[in-house]
Amino acid sequence: MSKLVTVKDLLVQEIKDLFSAENQLTHALPKMAEGASDPELKKGFENHLKETEVQMERLEKVAELLDASPRGKACEAMKGLVKEGEEALKEDADPDLKDLALIIAAQKVEHYEIAGYGGARALAEAMQMNKVVELLQATLDEEGKTDQKLTEIASRILAGTKKSAD
Ligand code: FE
Ligand code: FE
Ligand code: FE
Repeated sequence: MSKLVTVKDLLVQEIKDLFSAENQLTHALPKMAEGASDPELKKGFENHLKETEVQMERLEKVAELLDASPRGKACEAMKGLVKEGEEALKEDADPDLKDLALIIAAQKVEHYEIAGYGGARALAEAMQMNKVVELLQATLDEEGKTDQKLTEIASRILAGTKKSAD
């Protein structure tokens, strides 16, 4: 690891981490979609895969604006979060409960991303790099909406499981 001297150095490092995180997700999300039973959840994972591909393109643009490469770092946290997603996929559980476990795993991912993008955006704001701020904000909005959507699906599934338990 090279020494960080400027805010820009730190921003580049964070962009590399996010790029690795998104890249790992492009491999995990198809498995999550396949493992989900609820059609809306399945579709949600598929849609977020497409968004994730665009998010990687945004990070490429951000890196270009910073005269850097987005590659060269592995996000260790996402490795762990993806592993937890795989645990949820392997769970021997009723379909509703498995879907709920997948949603919790996916929301842990979204919250990690929200923290990473929020931090990177703050650095870009301090550097007055408006285009970078705009690109990071676009992704931040998508991660936030995805998180909300997952909360809604979980509530609907939970309302159904409660009924069936009565
Ligand atoms: Fe993402
Ligand atoms: Fe990371
Ligand atoms: Fe996401």
